[in-house]
Amino acid sequence: MHISDLTEMLIDFRDRREWKKYHTPKNLALSVAIEVGELLELFQWKKDDEILRELENDDYRSRIGEEISDVLIYLLPLAHECRIDVEKAIVDKIKKNEQKYPER
Ligand SMILES: [Mg+2]
Repeated sequence: MHISDLTEMLIDFRDRREWKKYHTPKNLALSVAIEVGELLELFQWKKDDEILRELENDDYRSRIGEEISDVLIYLLPLAHECRIDVEKAIVDKIKKNEQKYPER
């Protein structure tokens, strides 16, 4: 499955519920930030070694997976509403970073 397939699923889910009116770029960008905050809460106050230990716990990993999904569930429609081809944008950015940060 490609990113474009996921975006299509999300847009279809949204449109079937008549939620498009809420999906302005600003609302979606705010929602991405809110969900990133929820993701960060799962790491808040924990030390790196503590997090690595907790990642052995299926429930903890599942909660992280849900928040990562929530971020993308808003991020992909944000890109869609901004008419950005995410796959192309990522490839372009990787190429730009390859120029900016040459291999050693
Ligand atoms: Mg969430």
